[in-house]
Amino acid sequence: MKPEYTPLDKLSPVSKAYKVRVTVKEKSPIRTPPNKKRFQKLVFEDEEGNSMKATLFGDECDHFKKVFEHRKKYEIANSPIRTINPKFSSFPGECELTFGGMTKIQAIDRTEGPILPEYIPITDVLKTIGPADRFDLLGIVVHMEEVRQVTYKSGRVADVRAISIVNERAHAQPDIIVGYMARQLEFMTAGTEPVPTTLDQIISKNVDNTVQEELYTLTVTIPDAQLSNVIAYIGCDNCGRRCGLAANVPFFCPHCPDKKCTSTERVNFTFDATDDTRTFRLTAFGTVCEQIFNLTTLEVFNRKIKDDWNDFDHLAAALKSTPMHIIVHPAQALNRVGVLRWVVQSVSRP
Ligand SMILES: [Zn+2]
Repeated sequence: MKPEYTPLDKLSPVSKAYKVRVTVKEKSPIRTPPNKKRFQKLVFEDEEGNSMKATLFGDECDHFKKVFEHRKKYEIANSPIRTINPKFSSFPGECELTFGGMTKIQAIDRTEGPILPEYIPITDVLKTIGPADRFDLLGIVVHMEEVRQVTYKSGRVADVRAISIVNERAHAQPDIIVGYMARQLEFMTAGTEPVPTTLDQIISKNVDNTVQEELYTLTVTIPDAQLSNVIAYIGCDNCGRRCGLAANVPFFCPHCPDKKCTSTERVNFTFDATDDTRTFRLTAFGTVCEQIFNLTTLEVFNRKIKDDWNDFDHLAAALKSTPMHIIVHPAQALNRVGVLRWVVQSVSRP
C-alpha cells in the first residue's frame, strides 16, 4: 500500500503515528559555542514546499552525520515533534523535528521518483555511444521519422524511430528555430537533389541558417590553378591522415582505433572557385581531384611527387576557360561541433 504522507505544516507536538517525505534542504556546519554543547541545524522540506527545522546536539551530530545528506530525500516516521523555544523560533508556535523515541528514518533511493535531468549540449554526445549510455538533452524536435523495424545480428527485432533535434545553438531564438524547421522540411522533401545556387549565397550562409542535409550545385571556373596547391602524400586509407610509411602497408592508424588501415597514395587540391558573384576557396580530395584533373589519384600522385607535370599549365588554362559544375554540402562538423565548412562532393563538366 502506498504510504500516506503528512505535510510538514500539519505536524504538531500531538502528532504520533505519521510519515513525512522530505528532502534535506539545508545542513549547516557543526557549531561549538563557548561553554555550550555543539549543535548542527537541519532544514527539511516536503514535496509541497513546507519546511521544518531540526537541531542535532552533541553526539547526535556524529550519529546523524552519515544518516542525513544534503539534498537527499528521506522518509521519516513517528519522530517526536517539539515546539521551539520562542526565543529561537521564526514564528509563534514553530515546531521542530527531533529524532528520539520511535523515530524511523529511511533514505529514498534516488532512482525512485522523478530524477532531475542533467542537460548536456547536443554536441557533447559522442558519435559512438554504447547501449548503456544515457544523456539528457534539451532541444526542439524538428522531425520525427516513421517507426521502422531493424533486425540486430543477434536476430532480435526492435522498433526504431529517428528524431531530429535542433542543436542548442538555436535555443532561445524563435525565428532561428522556425527558419531551421522550415529548412529541414524543405531539404527532406527535396530529397538529395542539389539546389543550383551562387557563391555569394554560399558565402552568406552561416551555422544558424544551414542544415546538414543541404546540397548545392555551383557553376564555377578555377581562374588560377596552382601546381603548388596540389598536395600528394602517403596516408591512412580510412581517415586520410599522413603516416610515415611506404604505400600499401597495413598498419594501425592512431586515429582509427577500430579499423585495419593501409597506407595509400592521397592527393588534395586547394583552389579559388569563381562565378559571376564571388570567389571562394575550396579543397578537393581524392576522387574529386580525379574529376578535376581527369587523372587517377595515382597519376596525380606520381606527377606531383616526381615533379613531372609538364602540361599542368595547359590543364590550368582549361580550368580557367571551361566552367564546371561542383556539388557542395556542409561538412559533418556542422552537426558535430556547430562549425560550417563546405565540402566538394563531386565535379562534372557541362
Ligand atoms: Zn586513419
